[in-house]
Amino acid sequence: MSVLDAIGDTPLIRLTRITAGLTAEVHLKAEFLNPGGSVKDRAALAMVQAAEQSGELRSGGVIVEGTSGNTGVGLAMIAAQCGYRALVVVPDKSSEEKIKTLRAYGAQVVITTGGVTREDPRHVSQVAARLAAETPGGWLAGQYDNPANPGAHLATTGPEIWRQTGHRVTHFVAGVGTGGTISGAGAFLRSAGRVTVVGADPENSVYGGGDGSPYYVESIGHYVHPDTAEDVWPQSYHREIVHRIERVSDRESIEMTRRLAREEGILVGASTGTAVVAALRVAGELGPESVVVVLAPDSGRAYLSKYFDDGWLRRAGFPAPAAPGPLVADAPVTAPLLVPATSRVRDLPATGPAEVAVLVLPRSDRPISDPAPGDVIGSVPLEALRGASPDAPLTAYAQPPLPPVGTAEPAAEALARTPADAGRLAVLTDGRITGVVPRAALAALTRLAPAASNATGSRH
Ligand code: PMP
Repeated sequence: MSVLDAIGDTPLIRLTRITAGLTAEVHLKAEFLNPGGSVKDRAALAMVQAAEQSGELRSGGVIVEGTSGNTGVGLAMIAAQCGYRALVVVPDKSSEEKIKTLRAYGAQVVITTGGVTREDPRHVSQVAARLAAETPGGWLAGQYDNPANPGAHLATTGPEIWRQTGHRVTHFVAGVGTGGTISGAGAFLRSAGRVTVVGADPENSVYGGGDGSPYYVESIGHYVHPDTAEDVWPQSYHREIVHRIERVSDRESIEMTRRLAREEGILVGASTGTAVVAALRVAGELGPESVVVVLAPDSGRAYLSKYFDDGWLRRAGFPAPAAPGPLVADAPVTAPLLVPATSRVRDLPATGPAEVAVLVLPRSDRPISDPAPGDVIGSVPLEALRGASPDAPLTAYAQPPLPPVGTAEPAAEALARTPADAGRLAVLTDGRITGVVPRAALAALTRLAPAASNATGSRH
């Protein structure tokens, strides 16, 4: 048996504690037990096998993909076992752990600029396509549009769930990233047994009707950069397979991810948390004859310093065990003045308590409310506008975005990690900017003069 034979045939684990009060059965398809650590091993193997059969990938060839996620790991693992080289392009925001995992499998990692539109030649998928074309023997896996990705789940994940439930499954719940899992497994289960297919989607993702603004759960949903000319959905996502989509907030997903570890003993990533929130909502509408299967794509090991870290939660403003005070929220936090980044000086309110405007990338005609830091491009201290022409664009006066701190973060910690010369800080609640606080007010709280604080001066 090779490591590739260990892909698939993952167990189905019944959830017993977080389902208290529900009569429907809820089972977790434990994809984190695949040898590369995620559901993407299946798609990676199917894509490689299809390319070998078609002749696109030949002996001595180079497997190329643009992803910071689990598909890169699956491809790197398969490349190692089959004697190919793997070249994985990742955005510069990727965690050091992810890059090290790819390198551990012997993959060559190319780092490119993150946070650009898909049309931009620096975007991971553009760089990957170019490198695949330029590299002798190069083959681009292309999970977003490769039919072998949903095909893997049509051939394996769906039939396994059907068999493992003794044909009793009535509902299948999964997150949607490339859409391969839900489209392939969903198609099989719909034709085998009229199973209802439910997508679990981050609230802001456009799949479920959000505006595409940033969210915290990784690897699922569809984010849209505000400058995107035309938003293209992956061909691996067959939306007609999905009966219904449940939209789940970051906070709900993160809380559920933590509960799964502590209450069920199952350590998984936050995309599993999203899917389980959706599954419990669905199960709540059902009776004892129903069997809900929810897919758990990867392990929580890769996220120990994020969702499982109390400090990370506090810094982003998510609920966490109480920290010793005084806290950021104990300072005089005021409502932020949020304005579209395209505004001119005259668009600002003539009066009001705000001393700084937060420039937010506009996405729709809807008024801006509680943006994520990723949608903020700068800040304008209103005192800098004295004498400015009413027609001047605010961006002409823009300074860097206000450093973000969490609402329930200890004031001393917030002070220690924000630059001493930052006049004001953005206060986050549930990952969104909900307030502005003068940095000096935090210093006053901790009875430290701002100049005496131990700031390193690094901007985040
Ligand atoms: N969760 C995680 C952790 C993933 O890596 C992926 C793959 N992007 C998904 C969910 C979504 O799976 P799919 O691409 O098959 O829609």
